[in-house]
Amino acid sequence: MKFKHHQHGKLQSLFAQMLKKPTQTRLFSAIIQKQGYPKTPLNTTNKQDYCLPSFRNQKRYSTTVKKNPSFKQVSVEDISFFESVLGKQNILATKDLGGDCELTDLDSYNISWIPEFHGASKVVLLPTSATQVTVVPQGGNSGAQGGCVPVFDEIILCLSKMNQIRDLDHDSGALLCDAGCILENLNNYLGQYNLTMPIDLGAKGSCHIGGNISTNAGGVRYLKYGSLHGSVLGLEVLSDGTIINNMSKLRKDSTGYDLKQIFIGAEGTLGIVTGVSILAVQKPAFVNVAMLGLNSFDDVLKAFKYSKNHLSEILLAFEFWDADCMKSSLSFHKFQNPFSQNYSFYVLIETGGSNSHHDEQKLYKFLDEAMTKGVAANGVIAQDFTQQKKLWNIREGIIESLVKTGSPYKYDLSIPIGKLYDIVNDVKERLVNAGVYNEKVSSNEHKPLITSVNGFGHIGDGNLHLNVVANKFDKSLSQHIEPYVFEWTSKVHGSVSAEHGIGIAKPNCLKYTKSPEMIDMMKKIKKTFDPNGILNPYKVLPQ
Ligand SMILES: Cc1cc2nc3c(=O)[nH]c(=O)nc-3n(C[C@H](O)[C@H](O)[C@H](O)COP(=O)(O)OP(=O)(O)OC[C@H]3O[C@@H](n4cnc5c(N)ncnc54)[C@H](O)[C@@H]3O)c2cc1C
Repeated sequence: MKFKHHQHGKLQSLFAQMLKKPTQTRLFSAIIQKQGYPKTPLNTTNKQDYCLPSFRNQKRYSTTVKKNPSFKQVSVEDISFFESVLGKQNILATKDLGGDCELTDLDSYNISWIPEFHGASKVVLLPTSATQVTVVPQGGNSGAQGGCVPVFDEIILCLSKMNQIRDLDHDSGALLCDAGCILENLNNYLGQYNLTMPIDLGAKGSCHIGGNISTNAGGVRYLKYGSLHGSVLGLEVLSDGTIINNMSKLRKDSTGYDLKQIFIGAEGTLGIVTGVSILAVQKPAFVNVAMLGLNSFDDVLKAFKYSKNHLSEILLAFEFWDADCMKSSLSFHKFQNPFSQNYSFYVLIETGGSNSHHDEQKLYKFLDEAMTKGVAANGVIAQDFTQQKKLWNIREGIIESLVKTGSPYKYDLSIPIGKLYDIVNDVKERLVNAGVYNEKVSSNEHKPLITSVNGFGHIGDGNLHLNVVANKFDKSLSQHIEPYVFEWTSKVHGSVSAEHGIGIAKPNCLKYTKSPEMIDMMKKIKKTFDPNGILNPYKVLPQ
């Protein structure tokens, strides 16, 4: 990644000049609909209704979206226009639009890593600066709610070429960069200066900082560094054709409305984040990683309390998962089990500090108490970086193993910590009573059945990833799961999306967490920033 000083004045004047040309305003109204395609990925049809693909005959998450007929159809002229602004090399278009691509060549943009979400866009714009930007904003395409792929054939605006670091303030740690920078690359860059990003997640090798901000991503360091609402210092956002430049390095600024906050978690529905100013944190000089085996969820909670008590300021991460998740991750990835026997729950603890002796003493004291009081049944401490990575791989490999070996109904829930695992047990019981859950069934059975109900997540943040894994998606199963899971969550005043956002999967579930008045206010905000409804349409808000 190259270091680039940001020349904002130049950028702004270029943008202003661009907007003077009337035809160029079309860049901002270029979400285009088309019925029927010569060749479509994943059986995308010319139907007017969009149902999540594995559920064409049913409505998973109650999500049915109708094409908005007011959106126009992309034309060869549009492509010529985009070329005149972006340059031919920064556009991928299908052959019928004068480009070089088959529709399937755009699969990596059209299909989410969770293939149940996909669209059929014929155009991908790859701008290299904010002067060129237009409208399904796409970062690393690692999002979990289908927000980053088109629903029909909206134009994809992928920020992967906007990947320059603009500035690093060595006094404050403020990092200014393009929104398309990959999280891991930013971390590597900061590492040279003993700094690190305040956010870390399993998709770090592909997700963009702009995507993280747009989903208000949490991840494994949330416990220590808190929300992006706190660590983002400023944003540069393109909304309604105006660049809102708020690339502040200030930690404090109480001059009226804090505009950047509205774009954090907006999932590209209010504007396109093109630049980010974020507060990097000191990289811990010494890191320790330990894994515990525990016999009950109560013990997980006790271990968490002990860890806060003993590890306090050096506690970086406290992750948990259950036996089914462990089994899935180990067997799919062929990872080695660090323990010689199985436990009901597992916990991964990471500490980071500036004094190895002090940190180790604290960690050993914590482990000592956890073991002698019978809270932890077993524990291992990684001896070097390779072992640390191996322990983390088990935790970070869970989601991929579940997605690739079964058909998981996935839920990302915020729940009061004490009740966090109750929902897993309640859902299990419900499915057993309904006669659709059988732990012993093999995945190639013909009858739709649930094969595992499991959970993992970020204990300290009260964030559970509940997975109801089926041998195949089927309405006869989903009716037992939804809306039960959402109603359960609502009853304990939780959130139906803790860190993954709403995307296309859950607009109709917003009501379980937000009041009608709040949803109404959100719609008004959307109208203000995007009066034509062209920024990531169909996502987040119920139609
Ligand atoms: C293995 C794995 C582990 C994960 N772990 C976690 C985790 O621990 N915590 C967590 O929170 N998430 C996690 N995720 C989900 C995902 O990585 C995050 O949601 C991430 O923040 C998405 O970033 P992205 O760049 O891939 O965005 P995308 O998936 O490309 O987009 C996500 C949303 O943001 C919008 N968007 C993207 N870029 C911009 C932009 N520049 N301007 C405006 N809108 C934009 C898109 O339109 C879309 O609505 C995980 C995913 C995987 C695959």
